[in-house]
Amino acid sequence: MAIETYISQEKIESRIKELARQIDQDFGGEEVVVVGVLNGAFIFVADLIRQMKSPVYFDFIGASSYKGTESTGKITITKDIKVDIKGKNVVLVEDIVDTGLTISELNVLLKEREPKSIKLATLLHKPAKTAHPVSIDYLGFEIEDKFVIGYGLDFDGRYRELPYIGIYNG
Ligand code: 5GP
Repeated sequence: MAIETYISQEKIESRIKELARQIDQDFGGEEVVVVGVLNGAFIFVADLIRQMKSPVYFDFIGASSYKGTESTGKITITKDIKVDIKGKNVVLVEDIVDTGLTISELNVLLKEREPKSIKLATLLHKPAKTAHPVSIDYLGFEIEDKFVIGYGLDFDGRYRELPYIGIYNG
């Protein structure tokens, strides 16, 4: 088994600082509810909110998608947020946008709860696979169509703790 470094810890850290500055500027000191998508976004979101200066509320949402040939293109909510987002600024934070199904469905779901605004953030985006186009407001890195692990992302439940993004070569 070999793991090749794809995006270093240093690059991730400096990009997150830039994203946090961008978010702070956009909200101009207003409160922000940051909603992280479980499981993969837990490390990204923890680092992101600690770089932000905006007043932050935080919660996680859990979603699983079924993408086989039987797929209805829907996701199941495995854990909902407790915080009331009506009239609030929301930033929905994903680890990686692949087909776009998860983030687009969560976007629709949260919009129904009438937030003041909703913005989408993801650390990684694989444009090659987009099937559900979404407009991403805060993007860490656009990547090739490769299976990546680390920094919250797993392979079969493992490697989430790696401080960098790697490519798993079996
Ligand atoms: P989407 O709904 O955009 O197709 O898929 C998003 C989810 O698929 C991510 O939250 C993540 O759980 C998983 N995923 C997509 N690509 C990768 C990848 O390269 N590595 C890992 N570990 N998970 C991925």
